[in-house]
Amino acid sequence: MRKKFLLSILGCLIFLFSTTGCKSISTKNETKQKLILVSFTVLADIIQNISKNDDFLVKSITKPGIEVHGYKPTPSDLINASEAFVFVDNGFGFEIWSEKFVSNLKVQRITIADDLEPILISEDAYKGKPNPHAWISPKRGILYVDIIVESLSELMPSKTELFKKNGETYKHKLSKIDQDFSLFINNLEKDKRYLVSCEGAFSYLAKDYGLNEVYLWPVNAESQITPQRMARTISLIKKKNVPAVFCESTVSNESQMVVVNETGTKFGGNLYVDSLSSDNGPANSYLEMLKHNLEIIKRGLE
Ligand SMILES: [Zn+2]
Repeated sequence: MRKKFLLSILGCLIFLFSTTGCKSISTKNETKQKLILVSFTVLADIIQNISKNDDFLVKSITKPGIEVHGYKPTPSDLINASEAFVFVDNGFGFEIWSEKFVSNLKVQRITIADDLEPILISEDAYKGKPNPHAWISPKRGILYVDIIVESLSELMPSKTELFKKNGETYKHKLSKIDQDFSLFINNLEKDKRYLVSCEGAFSYLAKDYGLNEVYLWPVNAESQITPQRMARTISLIKKKNVPAVFCESTVSNESQMVVVNETGTKFGGNLYVDSLSSDNGPANSYLEMLKHNLEIIKRGLE
């Protein structure tokens, strides 16, 4: 009796495991998602909004808060990439590692910069090279959406309507932020329109909205500050009475604090550019990142 009882429990367990086992396999097959692998969190979030559908899984190679320019891909990144349907990167030399990364993979690729007009870096070792940080301007963010909608539609024509519809909704939200930026800058006294940051990552924002951009180094991967640039920045802040200076979330603000101490200006806070914050941070999506930056700049310069 007891033996029979145990056998029937064992039978139930085998049945339970085998059915759940089968179920999980069949569920996986039924909902096989296409993996869109993206180089950094900001771009991944934009693509997530455009491809919003059960058919797609969007993953960023670099995680929130990680320095992106000089990232070193891991073996698990390569395994992920081999399963991806498409790899999307920014280009303009932003991801120093991406050429080598995709060279050994049979994966389709979308590079946003192929369809964008660059702003060229005017000084230092990077002179004449494109500034990669175009997404930092909401106006260019709208262009990113158009490029992604078009490129994904080319790869998956049956999903064109979905991408277009999602893209339009998303662009609406970006337009609102674009208007808020314009309104703020237009109401700011002309001699207060200075954006002093650590990295020269705000050229597109500065150009699109009429700010003067000042920075301690041109591109993130080379955080070398020359004494001349430091001296120039300090003297400009004193001369123009710039009320606040800023830094970025993925770099150390140590050098900017030297500027603060030398000039008596205030440190306005960290802006987000190359990476989103973690989920509970102030810039956990591209839209929140732009709003956060506007808020920090407003608070500093007003
Ligand atoms: Zn950068």
